Amino acid sequence: MSIEQLARKNVRELTPYQSARRLGGQGDVWLNANEYPVAPEFQLTAQTFNRYPECQPALVIERYAAYAGVNQEQVLVSRGADEGIELLIRAFCEPGKDAILFCPPTYGMYAVSAETFGVERRTVAAKADWQLDLPAIAANLGNVKLIYACSPNNPTGNLLDPNDLRALLEMAKGKAIVAIDEAYIEFCPQASVAGWLSDYPHLVVLRTLSKAFALAGLRCGFTLANAEVIALLLKVIAPYPLSTPVADIAAQALSPEGLNLMRQRVAEISANRAWLQQALQDCACVEQVFTSDSNYLLARCTATSNVFKTLWDQGIILRDQHKQPGLSGCVRITIGTRAECQRVVDALKPLPGAKETL
Ligand SMILES: *Cc1c(COP(=O)(O)O)cnc(C)c1O
Repeated sequence: MSIEQLARKNVRELTPYQSARRLGGQGDVWLNANEYPVAPEFQLTAQTFNRYPECQPALVIERYAAYAGVNQEQVLVSRGADEGIELLIRAFCEPGKDAILFCPPTYGMYAVSAETFGVERRTVAAKADWQLDLPAIAANLGNVKLIYACSPNNPTGNLLDPNDLRALLEMAKGKAIVAIDEAYIEFCPQASVAGWLSDYPHLVVLRTLSKAFALAGLRCGFTLANAEVIALLLKVIAPYPLSTPVADIAAQALSPEGLNLMRQRVAEISANRAWLQQALQDCACVEQVFTSDSNYLLARCTATSNVFKTLWDQGIILRDQHKQPGLSGCVRITIGTRAECQRVVDALKPLPGAKETL
């Protein structure tokens, strides 16, 4: 048997996640991974590298719980929110039997993680306004153990209606875990559902330091849930999921000063987003810019403008979204520095439009 044939069937058939880094490119303006454009500065304070780290570093848990307004036993820290997505599948879904459900267009890792474990991926397309299609979800809940809903949604940028989220939680009661992915919640903190944990034993909230905290390279994320769910996830997590330097820097990022800096970044990015949204609307090649509560904008461009390729050739790397259902002609643009936003606009201005007059 060849090495390839030795591998599990679903691994042989797996299409790995097309991360922004894997896609490559020769850019000098990187606006394709929803990262913060400037590196924050940190000094390592920990020195005990001869010792294994704590599985759940106490200071990180304590500070994140205080920041998120939940109890410490409601917090799990992991190698990015992506690991949280995966731990939920490992803890709740029987391969070949159970299913996860999610609502495209949305984040790609729910599908990839389920596929890796041989767990069925059930999709219920979002409605035209990108809100949840609750009747269709209700009709498709058979053998679903886990529902992922992303708010603000990546790549569309919209928040999900809180009344719909409540309805979803009611619908799933006693049947499935509902995981709300709040990777971008710092850009609209009032919309978090973390405060609902005491109402719903099956609610899970996913968080990350990769976006507003400017630490995508750190690989640190959080799962908020009731103690019963956290205990199950702790059964399947690796014994040392976070290295000592990661825990050290995460604790600093969550200090009062770190939180202050994060909020300044959010204000700066939100101002740049408002500026870019306006500027994009004045570009002939842009048909529509969608409102966003996050650090990116989704724009629909004219068929003839070839925006993604044209900007790529100029070293401006965006995320092409045209393959996602309902997103033909769409690119996702991470909000960078004001100068980077300006580069995008300068590159788009000369491109042809077929703008309808409304
Ligand atoms: C970026 C992102 C994540 C992953 O975050 P990491 O902590 O970097 O793994 C999860 N969900 C969504 C919607 C994201 O955009």
